[in-house]
Amino acid sequence: MSDLTHYIGGARVAGTSGRFADVYNPATGEVQSRVPLASAEEMDHAVQAAAAAQPAWAAVNPQRRARVMMKFVTLLNRDMDKLAEALSREHGKTLPDAAGDVQRGLEVVEYCIGAPQMLKGEFTDSAGPGIDMYSMRQPLGVCAGITPFNFPAMIPMWMFAPAIACGNAFILKPSERDPSVPLMLAELMEEAGLPKGILQVVNGDKAAVDAILDHPVIQSIGFVGSTPIAEYIYGRGCSNGKRVQCFGGAKNHMIIMPDADMDQAADALVGAGYGAAGERCMAISVAVPVGNDTADRLIAKLIPRIEKLKVGPYTAGKDVDYGPVVTAAAKQNILRLVQAGVDQGAKLVIDGRNFALQGYEDGFFVGPHLFDHVTADMDIYKKEIFGPVLSTVRAQSYEEALGLAMSHEYGNGTAIFTRDGDAARDFANRVNVGMIGINVPIPVPLAYHTFGGWKKSAFGDLNQHGPDSFKFYTRTKTITSRWPSGIKEGAALNFRPME
Ligand code: NAD
Repeated sequence: MSDLTHYIGGARVAGTSGRFADVYNPATGEVQSRVPLASAEEMDHAVQAAAAAQPAWAAVNPQRRARVMMKFVTLLNRDMDKLAEALSREHGKTLPDAAGDVQRGLEVVEYCIGAPQMLKGEFTDSAGPGIDMYSMRQPLGVCAGITPFNFPAMIPMWMFAPAIACGNAFILKPSERDPSVPLMLAELMEEAGLPKGILQVVNGDKAAVDAILDHPVIQSIGFVGSTPIAEYIYGRGCSNGKRVQCFGGAKNHMIIMPDADMDQAADALVGAGYGAAGERCMAISVAVPVGNDTADRLIAKLIPRIEKLKVGPYTAGKDVDYGPVVTAAAKQNILRLVQAGVDQGAKLVIDGRNFALQGYEDGFFVGPHLFDHVTADMDIYKKEIFGPVLSTVRAQSYEEALGLAMSHEYGNGTAIFTRDGDAARDFANRVNVGMIGINVPIPVPLAYHTFGGWKKSAFGDLNQHGPDSFKFYTRTKTITSRWPSGIKEGAALNFRPME
């Protein structure tokens, strides 16, 4: 068993705090390595290295900074298989899904190659007599990001690529569950030409996060993870005067109208409900068929599809639809909520509780579950399960279905399946959720749009990637400049509009 490291000042550095967390192979249940948990002192070393390196990086012209991103894209493609394998080994997701994790991060890196265009600023010639006005976007300095276990490649890249393209230094505190890929990404960025100290990885738990929250040099914090931690980081980070954006949990509803193509809807639900074992913030966890007849038809289509799902280790390659969940604790939490669903009166149509895989008895596998007749007061409806569990809530009308999505505390993503353009348009306009799919189950926006939920799924004003990311990672400065013509006007004592 090996000990992982941090990546500070351009080198892999052993942890010195004496504290470690076990990193599991979720398919076998074995501990495969230990990750060091940083102290506040170790975090401070990284911050000092970042602060020393950042001014020179900010002075590199944006086009040259963008070239590092171009080279990084080439290296990501070169190492795609290696990255996907390392990711699957710690996370448990299938190899194609792990490659997708890298790919959706890579696309944001590609978007950041456009940094020179995004950072151009604004200019007004002759805003007044002899007066020009211009604004520019300047980097913040040292930025930090705290990321979840479920996308260990994509979400770090969503943060560090725009931050670094804008001229900042970035400190990444990845999830302690799957820290290997973030370390590999930092090495690849340096191979792509990034100066030492501009991207660092400091592994850790709450102690490292608190050191970020309280460090006076760190200017901004990006967080993605569960809502209680998002609220904590947002509150403490903002009260310490930092710029903070936090993205939290989800409970994504898919409305199935009576006129929907039921085969298409059932296929979409199986992919969006059970892919990656349901460990996606954009997973569909609630199906809302409108009308009992729609519900009966949908359930009849879902059952054979779900029964056919193949659950297994990533090493089985294409023969597997989804893998284990990330830890034994995550598995216990899912099974506890399933039991609560049964106890509270939901109908468990497909029961995955006794799922077992020969040769992998100690792995964290959870079979697929399907609930029908779920109601809004049940724990399985109110809470994020983050597992392969799909709950069906029967609505009697479109308005009732819309109302369910709207009154849930989370508002990350939602979808409607229908052939009726009017219903789809009404839904997209009225629902209070950040990302909407129309006959698309997982509407994750592409890199050049922005990603973010509403309600308890996001805290802060700006979304991730797209144009918002360039706003989040820069400060605007506006200059009013006058080169006198020689005419003397005397002092102006009033605050007055430009003439
Ligand atoms: P988590 O909240 O447990 O951990 C996220 C990060 O916070 C990790 O780096 C972890 O080390 C740190 N952390 C954990 N406990 C902490 C504490 N007490 N104090 C300070 N820091 C702490 O989340 P997770 O289990 O890694 O990820 C799953 C969650 O992330 C789900 O709720 C999922 O919906 C959410 N998620 C949201 C989005 C989004 O864009 N909205 C995307 C992906 C995942």
